[in-house]
Amino acid sequence: YRDLTRARSLIAPVPDFPEEGVVFQDVMPLLTDPVALRSCVKEMLAPFMGRFDVVAGLEARGFLLAGAAAMVADVGMVPIRKAGKLPRPAAEASYDLEYGQATVEVQADVAPGSRVLVLDDVLATGGTLSAAHEVLRSIGCEVAGSAVLLEIPSLGGRTRVPDVHAVFAG
Ligand code: IMP
Repeated sequence: YRDLTRARSLIAPVPDFPEEGVVFQDVMPLLTDPVALRSCVKEMLAPFMGRFDVVAGLEARGFLLAGAAAMVADVGMVPIRKAGKLPRPAAEASYDLEYGQATVEVQADVAPGSRVLVLDDVLATGGTLSAAHEVLRSIGCEVAGSAVLLEIPSLGGRTRVPDVHAVFAG
């Protein structure tokens, strides 16, 4: 637990980013530390070992975690991207933001029936993660679970994604 306690201390709260009144939780310092990165990725995977065929990473910081997780778990990874970035999008899902909407897309490069573990850095309102589940199901995948580094419980994401595994909360 010592590695995880130190890893938690490497997540930096940034007041007033990206706008006034918001405290952005910056996981970049944690990602730059080899011991913290490895212990957190292992902790994200632990409840799901042997129960998934591929990991999915959410743009953009989820990509970094999914790449590392794929190596640890010896599986491949599939990116879930913001609309308009993928050359061969096969499914999309939209979700509400505070102002407006956002859309995520995925390619149908994963075999139907694959069990996918979805990874991201932070769970806030849960909109992004639940849209990720939706696109994966649209291409015939089974969602094996979701894991994040940090859950911000006050934003209620768990009501949308009840089973998410969070390494840290609060
Ligand atoms: P949600 O859809 O409201 O749960 O927001 C989660 C998405 O926004 C994730 O892809 C995060 O990367 C990003 N996000 C929201 N809040 C933060 C934060 O405080 N730090 C880092 N990323 C955040």
